[in-house]
Amino acid sequence: MTGKIRKATRHVNQNEGLIFEKSSPGKAAWKLPPLDVPEVDAGNLLGASERKDLGHMPEVSEIEIIRHFTRLSTWNYAIDLGMYPLGSCTMKYNPRVNEVVARLEGIANGHPYQPERASQGALRIMKTLSECLIEITGMDAITLQPAAGAHGELTGLLMVRAHHESRNSPRKKILIPDSAHGTNPATAAMVGYAVENLKSNSRGMVEVSALEAQMNEDVAALMLTNPNTLGVFEQEIHKIADILHAKGGLLYMDGANMNALVGKVRPGDFGVDLMHLNLHKTFSTPHGGGGPGSGPVAIRKFLEPFLPRPVLTTKSDGTLGFDYDRAQSVGRVRSFYGNFGMFVRALAYIMANGPDGLRQTTEDAVLNANYIRKGLEGTYDLPYSTPSMHEVIFSDRVQAKRGVKTMDVAKRLIDYGFHPYTTAFPLIVPGALMIEPTESESKEEMDLFIEAMKSIAEEAENDLQTVLSAPHSTRVSRLDETAAARKPVLRWKPEGS
Ligand SMILES: *Cc1c(COP(=O)(O)O)cnc(C)c1O
Repeated sequence: MTGKIRKATRHVNQNEGLIFEKSSPGKAAWKLPPLDVPEVDAGNLLGASERKDLGHMPEVSEIEIIRHFTRLSTWNYAIDLGMYPLGSCTMKYNPRVNEVVARLEGIANGHPYQPERASQGALRIMKTLSECLIEITGMDAITLQPAAGAHGELTGLLMVRAHHESRNSPRKKILIPDSAHGTNPATAAMVGYAVENLKSNSRGMVEVSALEAQMNEDVAALMLTNPNTLGVFEQEIHKIADILHAKGGLLYMDGANMNALVGKVRPGDFGVDLMHLNLHKTFSTPHGGGGPGSGPVAIRKFLEPFLPRPVLTTKSDGTLGFDYDRAQSVGRVRSFYGNFGMFVRALAYIMANGPDGLRQTTEDAVLNANYIRKGLEGTYDLPYSTPSMHEVIFSDRVQAKRGVKTMDVAKRLIDYGFHPYTTAFPLIVPGALMIEPTESESKEEMDLFIEAMKSIAEEAENDLQTVLSAPHSTRVSRLDETAAARKPVLRWKPEGS
């Protein structure tokens, strides 16, 4: 242990009470000059709609309200404060140049109801981004409409269904490996398919013989997260594609983890028929509380008739526009044309990096995950020894003997100034710790993280209660997470009301 340990400081002080509790009658954060026009009785203007009793609105000074909101902002964790190793979520740094570009007047003030001829710049952005993503994935066409990864899955499976129906071969099943992202089976069920589970082998990959046994003419598609949620690349992907195609099934790739592949391999070259991307993961657009997502779906040529309507096209006069006349389309999946602001940011990221830069980010993301793997592999149990791609999955097997579970380690990590990793996922690893540093992190930040994780493992041996009762540096400690999600308290109410 180097002794280089960061501890989270608590940005709170004695004045941390609610703004309502600081209120005193007559205090205000504003002052207006005396009237230089005759006073008007607002009651006469507004009539019955004037609200006389303002209820319990807080009356505070300007500095009190400023301190209140600034203090609230420090109770959150953010990628701009430190490493955010939430596996599968790819919480990478959001470069500020993206924001500068997205705020350019002509871009920020564009309106979706503007006529096409007055929107050529915006359409050009969408066209250029589409071309970049088609090149990166090795596919033939793309829709930018879906608003998130799971929405992309839904769009993709609607196209799978339309494809089979158009061939008078409706099918009932979607195959999904146990190492898939949780949204995959949920999506398949929403589209009306039965989900059949595929077991992974001891290397954390699809067992090809099992796929062969389960594949038949009732299978519409295999949904394959690649790299999967064990952070493992499906090395037999060509064989997997061949087995599906031989029986008329399609290979859908969940490409939310493309940050492990960009610039290295292209799904279009290894047999994928359609896939979604998460611009808010791989291409650095903000997500979580930070912004809307975007989940484009890239496809091979034969699926083009089924693309959501409208489709961006180049018209005969060379201008860009939308084609609504698409008889076999699965229809519209999003109002207007998708989350345009995210297209701008993603394209800014792609263009700022260029092909070599994108390849470098992929290499750095994989290097960083393996650096953490090396740093922690003697301390935490590594259930799969297959090489890691962009994330590494440990288990709490060693610490659980002392009663310390993955959730306890994650909670304690907050006290060391880090956002927790993903806990208890993927489900095929009991007590999983899913860690994804992304390419954004420096060696120094990862060293701090490794030291923190080692220190927590040591505490599990020598200072058990500190770990079990963590976090100690946050305003609230262990929440009832179900209640927080199901019955959130979003509004302050005065006592007794
Ligand atoms: C994040 C993720 C999704 C879902 O994406 P959303 O944008 O959250 O809907 C799907 N699959 C994988 C592998 C993911 O990591």
